[in-house]
Formats: sequence, C-alpha cells, structure tokens
Amino acid sequence: MRKQIAAANWKMNLTSVEASQLLNELLATPHSLQAHQEAIFAVPAIYIPLAVEKLANQSNVFVAAQNCHQKSTGAYTGEISAPMLASVGVKHIVLGHSERREYFAESDALLAEKLNAVLAIDSTPIFCCGEPLAIREAGTQNVFVEAQLKNGLFHLTAAQIVKVVIAYEPIWAIGTGKTASSEQAQEIHAYIRSVLATQYGEAIAQEISILYGGSVKASNAKELFSQPDVDGGLVGGASLIATEFAAIINALK
Ligand code: PEP
Repeated sequence: MRKQIAAANWKMNLTSVEASQLLNELLATPHSLQAHQEAIFAVPAIYIPLAVEKLANQSNVFVAAQNCHQKSTGAYTGEISAPMLASVGVKHIVLGHSERREYFAESDALLAEKLNAVLAIDSTPIFCCGEPLAIREAGTQNVFVEAQLKNGLFHLTAAQIVKVVIAYEPIWAIGTGKTASSEQAQEIHAYIRSVLATQYGEAIAQEISILYGGSVKASNAKELFSQPDVDGGLVGGASLIATEFAAIINALK
C-alpha cells in the first residue's frame, strides 16, 4: 500500500513554550501509526531541533521544514538550505505551499530548483499544488493543477518522482473552514494520478502519495481519507490542537 500520511503545517504559529506544550500533549494523546502510515510535523524552522528531540523515540514520525532555499550554501542572508535542514534531522521539506507562491512570489521554475536541492540530499519534498477560487468556479482546476505539476515536477526522472509526496490544496479551502467534498477531492486526486501515469507510467503513479489539504479536521478526515486516491492530509489549523491532530492521524487508512 502507498504511504498514508498525516502532515501538520504549523505555519508561523506558536511560541517556543507553546510548541513544546503542543508536542507534549500530542505525545500524551492516544494515536497509532501502522507500518505504512506516517505523521510529519512541518514546524517553524526555529523549533526543528526541539521537535526532533521530543519526537526522537516515535516510529514513523518525522520533522519537516516548511520551505528551503534552492542553493546549498552562500551569501543569502536569512535563508536556510536543504543540507542545513538535513543536518538537524529534517527528512521532509514542504515546497510550493500556496502562501509561499502568493506572498513570496514563488514560481514553478523556482520550485523546480528547490525540488532539485531537496532531492540532491535525499530528503522528501512535499510538493503543494492547487487552484484559487476563480479557477474552481470556472471549472478549469484540472488544467491549472496539471500545469503546476508539469512546470514544477516533470523535469524529474522516474527514480526521482517516486520520492516526492504531492499535496493537493485548493486555495479556497485553506484556512477558510470550507473543505472540498470527498467526491471533489477524489476526482482531482484521480486526475493528478492519471497525469502522473501519462508522464511516468501507471506503476510509478500508483506509488506516489497524494495528500489533500484544506480545512481537514477530525470531523471530516475519515471521509476524505477513505477515498481511494486520497493518501492522507496536509493540515494547518487543526494541527495546532493535539486532540484534533491525533484524531486525524487515527483516520489514516
Ligand atoms: C495548510 O496549511 O496547508 C492548510 C491546508 O491549512 P488549513 O488546514 O488550516 O486549511
């Protein structure tokens, strides 16, 4: 079975004390992961060492970064590179979140470079894609997302693409409380997998985990994750509440 993943995206939230408390609460809240399931915590970079230390004894639990620079070293004041993240225990790096595309003008071409940087150190990119509301209302979401995949990902070889996790996140559902219905999620996830199959072949497309993101919470996770092409979720708001995120982990198939 493909990896089923519950990924937390804390974004720019929590003080150090709050981050520590949340991890303690989560460790104390019943949750269980089978061999094919993973929980990933994309915490603010400054809390990575704290999270790595707290989660060190948990199996199938990983600490991720929310972004990285495309170069490995150099005069890029304020930036953090993929090798630097790997050196403090990061195994996964979120790339191309819609907030980074929108507020930091990250283009598909830049994201393609960042992907190369992450794969070069054998870390796992969690590549985000997804359409804004106007595109969904026009019914052209498949074309929009396909272009994001082609421009951002399709320079990768087959051996590289199988290491990527894709997160489909419709922008109109992020932080809005509006969730795509499980049918809407399944429809576009199946489409994404078909685009991957056309480019790389069916066997490879079947190996790639495709997460859904957009107001996932304990109350809707099971229904969303039960869809055959939805392999878990990338979770913002609900990942800041230990009981919610534990329930989301427990909803993985
Ligand atoms: C996200 O941060 O990627 C996200 C999907 O946020 P939320 O769950 O709050 O909609």
